[in-house]
Amino acid sequence: MMLDNLLEILPQRQEKLRVLIVDDQPINIRALHEVFRGEYHLIMATNGQQAIEQARKQLPDLILLDVVMPDMNGYDVCQQLKSDAQTASIPVIFVTTQSNPDEEALGFEAGAVDFIIKPVNPVIVRARVRTHLALKLQYDFVRSIALQDGLTGIPNRRRFDDDFASYWGQARREQWPLSLLLIDVDHFKLYNDHYGHVAGDVCLRSVAQALVKTARRSTDLVYRYGGEEFACLLPHTDLQGAEQCAASMLEAVAALNIEHCKSATAPVVSISIGIVSVIPDQDHKQENMVELADKALYDAKHAGRNGYRSSV
Ligand code: GH3
Ligand code: MG
Ligand code: MG
Repeated sequence: MMLDNLLEILPQRQEKLRVLIVDDQPINIRALHEVFRGEYHLIMATNGQQAIEQARKQLPDLILLDVVMPDMNGYDVCQQLKSDAQTASIPVIFVTTQSNPDEEALGFEAGAVDFIIKPVNPVIVRARVRTHLALKLQYDFVRSIALQDGLTGIPNRRRFDDDFASYWGQARREQWPLSLLLIDVDHFKLYNDHYGHVAGDVCLRSVAQALVKTARRSTDLVYRYGGEEFACLLPHTDLQGAEQCAASMLEAVAALNIEHCKSATAPVVSISIGIVSVIPDQDHKQENMVELADKALYDAKHAGRNGYRSSV
């Protein structure tokens, strides 16, 4: 699919696409700048270290990368970008005066998607950049769909598994507390039975939004875990902080004031929450955390619902 068609149908891409140009020779940067000026938001770097910094900070949609540079050459830059999860999916096109197959092979091995020969031909470089930007947008779109829950629009279970593993690793290396909340809607079967499945879906969307708003640090940390269950990851948060967050979530859902006349717990929709909080070390296993949170959730249900319990 062509870039223009994609830009038309991807509502989230209203701002200009961002292209990082890396070359140690200002005259080469100027040449590329001439070609793309006005079309994309351009970011420049004149050495490898700067290129990596800019890529991490600005997350461009594509990188045009010089091969021969002092200190750090293009292949090394590319390899570093590809080994960092944050920058790994940014397509890299090498721009080089060397045009022998061995050099090209090195570039592809380092993770590049294409090669362009200097001095650049504006028509060719424009066409190649458009092709790879189109592929990048399609990748981003597919990824966002794959990791998002269709009903509520919040991150899904797959995204939770990814994030949990990555936070767990970080927390273990850097020794900070990670908290996990499992959140379950009370008497939701009765809600569906009485108000219907469509109303049930509307209710789940509202609960999801209320939970997202409550997680103060970032909206990305509340997930639809499955059915009428949600999960919340709180990095750098100890048990006390997690309990505060749980209390706010209970309040936020109560404040939605969604009538639930069949609930024995409250006249409105309520939730129960199980909490587990650890600074991971060799005694802890990531696989056990969900189970512990689930047990705490079970305790919260048995203690009368509409409350939270923590794993001890
Ligand atoms: P408890 O307070 O013990 O959690 O009781 P409960 O009724 O909420 O728990 P149970 O697990 O028995 O029922 C969960 C219900 O959630 C059953 C299922 O139909 C409903 N449910 C799960 N996913 C969805 C969904 O996507 N949409 C709707 N409308 N309902 C859902
Ligand atoms: Mg349930
Ligand atoms: Mg339930």
